[in-house]
Amino acid sequence: MTMWDSSAIRRSLVNTCKLWRHCAGCAWLGLALSSLGCAQSEVTVSDFGKTADGTPVEQFTLRNAGGVVVKLISRGATLTEWHVPDKNGEMADVVFGFDDIAGYESPANGYFGCTAGRVANRIAGGKFTIDGAEYTLATNDGPNALHGGEKRSLDKVVWKGEPFEKENERGVAFTYTSPDGEEGYPGNLAMKVTYTLTDKNEIRIDYEATTDKATPVNLTNHAYFNLAGAGAPTINDHELKIIADNYTPVDATLIPTGQIVPVEGTVFDFRDFHEIGERVNTLNNQPGGGYDHNFVLNNQDGDLALAAQVRESDSGRLLSIFTTEPGIQFYGGNFLAGQKGKGGKTYAHRSGLCLETQHYPDSVNHPSFPNSVLKPGDTYKHTCVYQITVE
Ligand code: BGC
Repeated sequence: MTMWDSSAIRRSLVNTCKLWRHCAGCAWLGLALSSLGCAQSEVTVSDFGKTADGTPVEQFTLRNAGGVVVKLISRGATLTEWHVPDKNGEMADVVFGFDDIAGYESPANGYFGCTAGRVANRIAGGKFTIDGAEYTLATNDGPNALHGGEKRSLDKVVWKGEPFEKENERGVAFTYTSPDGEEGYPGNLAMKVTYTLTDKNEIRIDYEATTDKATPVNLTNHAYFNLAGAGAPTINDHELKIIADNYTPVDATLIPTGQIVPVEGTVFDFRDFHEIGERVNTLNNQPGGGYDHNFVLNNQDGDLALAAQVRESDSGRLLSIFTTEPGIQFYGGNFLAGQKGKGGKTYAHRSGLCLETQHYPDSVNHPSFPNSVLKPGDTYKHTCVYQITVE
């Protein structure tokens, strides 16, 4: 073991970077060490430019013992890169994103990799009532409210990121307090979203929130995946399994009708692996124009359990998703429209998929769905684990 391999040195590099995070010398030191073949810090912090309103954005680079690299940015507490090996050890970045902050801010590029909320997915008519008080939100998706609002939804604000290292784990804890009334929601909502990269090639996301007024909360991550590498032409060749006997059908504006319907005998039956492309075209004329549905997970007890798996045979990569949440939105990238992403890659229609662990869309207006209203004194908690292995 060389002196540079010692974890003490790596930790001190992290601390140096933390202390001097805006200092060009830190980047220079990292470059000098890597050119000498020395071990890299497990967590490094660098600048990622400024938002249009001039707020500085930080980038966090996590590296695990196997050389897997994850990048996150503080705008939107966003997952921007995940470099994982295929069955031959070749690395590829499997999540979608952009080279710079302007890419993330472009209105054509909404929600890539972000933390979505305060209420991910839709609220019918942008209205809900709690304890007799009616609240009105911006309607930014036809007649409905989508993903927390127009200007200060969680994907658009800059969070505070604190890097950390533990044994076999490293990560970033992002915090943001959304003030009472922001985007029309009641209560000061204090949130913490912690991303942890483990040595088992897992990204664990732990969400926590507390409020001082009753308010709906539904946080999720909106990463687009293509297991052949972001920019590969399609996800129709990926196979998907969802551990759900039921799903929530939607109306023409993608609001759940309120029914919970068995998947058996429908194109929503993913209880065994099916190629996504096998049945997707039967949904072309349906709301969403393909898969964009919430599945009612069989696990409803709040423990962490397997929810879905996706596999791609050429790379051999298998994505397994575990969650404590009662639902998962399978969104098949129907609204991707050839956006230009990182390194000039193109994100074509249905070339990426999101599997968003969550409460069911519009839960606040459906008393029969699991409760999504957080009360003062209670803590919202949600864990989602994305794990990539090879077969
Ligand atoms: C929703 C889609 C929406 C997309 C926006 C997904 O979570 O299910 O309906 O168009 O987010 O990126």
